[in-house]
Amino acid sequence: MTAIVLAVLLWHAWGSADRDRARARAQSEALRKELARRRAELRRTPPPLQVMASVVRPGFEPVAERGDPSGRVAKIGGRPWLPEGEAWPTCIECRAAFSLWLQLDLAALPAGAIAARGGGLLQVFACTNLDAECEGFGGDEWTSLTRVIPVSTQGSTAARDLAGDRQTAYAITGWTRFDTCPTDDGDWDEVVPDVDEAVRELVEAHVENWGGGEQLGGWPQWMQGPKFAACPACGDRMEHVFEFGSDVLLDWVFGDFGVGYLQRCPRHPGKLALIWQCT
Ligand SMILES: [Zn+2]
Ligand SMILES: [Zn+2]
Repeated sequence: MTAIVLAVLLWHAWGSADRDRARARAQSEALRKELARRRAELRRTPPPLQVMASVVRPGFEPVAERGDPSGRVAKIGGRPWLPEGEAWPTCIECRAAFSLWLQLDLAALPAGAIAARGGGLLQVFACTNLDAECEGFGGDEWTSLTRVIPVSTQGSTAARDLAGDRQTAYAITGWTRFDTCPTDDGDWDEVVPDVDEAVRELVEAHVENWGGGEQLGGWPQWMQGPKFAACPACGDRMEHVFEFGSDVLLDWVFGDFGVGYLQRCPRHPGKLALIWQCT
């Protein structure tokens, strides 16, 4: 008898969970439609050109395909280009081979992206060894390596992918440009102090603000508000270079599907910092 009562109760609970899910889906669909309608309406009015000129920055989404080409090329994952005689960099905490998170030839970036500032090969490595407890790199510098290898350095691409079981190799074969504007109050305040809310909404409706994955340049899509590292050489505030999404191209999830931010000192282009945020 008890079993039958339990079964009936469970059946009801399942039914009500299904109804709750259906209601939540309908609500989010209605909200999405309303936002799209509002956006379409706003896009009929041109935004103030002066504001657009001061806030819009081009962002670039990588055009990526599976593969691991050799050379000083743009890639996520795969084999890094290494200076002559240098072994694949390893985590000094757990000794595992770092994963190559990003490699960019700074002289070959699209026009309007971040400043090349002397060129060189930018590299970001991180420890993605889940068996060790060194995955949180925020402030723990030994779990990541960021650098710019000068143009004049001799070297070659590593022979074997030592982190291939942890990171898929992607060649970045191009960049898709789109417009970005600040999405955070702090960033808005910096470029257009006391911006009119209606103007801000109008501008935001006219740009794409890609926010789901990797992005070169553009405005950062902050999850917890603007945060910039200080340059260890001069103390200056670093500037935004690149954004990593969670589990898009990078086989890595920042906390609760957060975002990783790569920053660089405007005066010391070799000084980089990697930070992350999640909601
Ligand atoms: Zn490690
Ligand atoms: Zn500096």
